[in-house]
Amino acid sequence: MTDATPGRFSAHYEYEQTREMPLDSFAYLRDSLATDPLAIAALARPEIPEPPRAGEGGRDCRSCTADDRDYLWTDQHWRIHTIAEPLGLFFVMVNPREHYEELPDLPPARAAELGPLLQRMESALRALGDVGQVHTHKWGDGGAHLHLWQIVRPLGMLQARGVGLTVWLKALPPLPTEVWEAAGRDFARQMALGGGTAHR
Ligand SMILES: [Zn+2]
Repeated sequence: MTDATPGRFSAHYEYEQTREMPLDSFAYLRDSLATDPLAIAALARPEIPEPPRAGEGGRDCRSCTADDRDYLWTDQHWRIHTIAEPLGLFFVMVNPREHYEELPDLPPARAAELGPLLQRMESALRALGDVGQVHTHKWGDGGAHLHLWQIVRPLGMLQARGVGLTVWLKALPPLPTEVWEAAGRDFARQMALGGGTAHR
């Protein structure tokens, strides 16, 4: 990606200096921590070019070579999976069958499918029940093959609202395997009602 305006953002930070962060909006911290500012790591200087991500440019890309049976649901152009080892919150990830890396890389036909597909996914997750909110994320900092996340915030888990959700994803004990697998199966079958193939 070209850098049209070098330093447009990065020129405005102070590097290698520690600072304190106000915590009044971070409901997931212990009460004792939330009353005092938290010292956070000094901001490291920009690393340019950035190191390659897994599967960058389609080389050794596991999303490209994975079998449909590794997924919960697939159709002609899209595949949806989750991980085998449960985490504390249920989530699914969708990626195009072909190797595209960023949203602007999608050809118009794929881009036009993505909105309705995300709607179907969120509906299928909400149909699992006990869902307060479904958070859609696109990070792409780990794997290069385009993938979007949908993470379930359980009904009533108000401390996990907003950006705190991803902290709880790692901080909560893993869901039981049978609960995780049943959610994946129910999600896949709900998706298949609208087309495509459930693999669970
Ligand atoms: Zn790929």
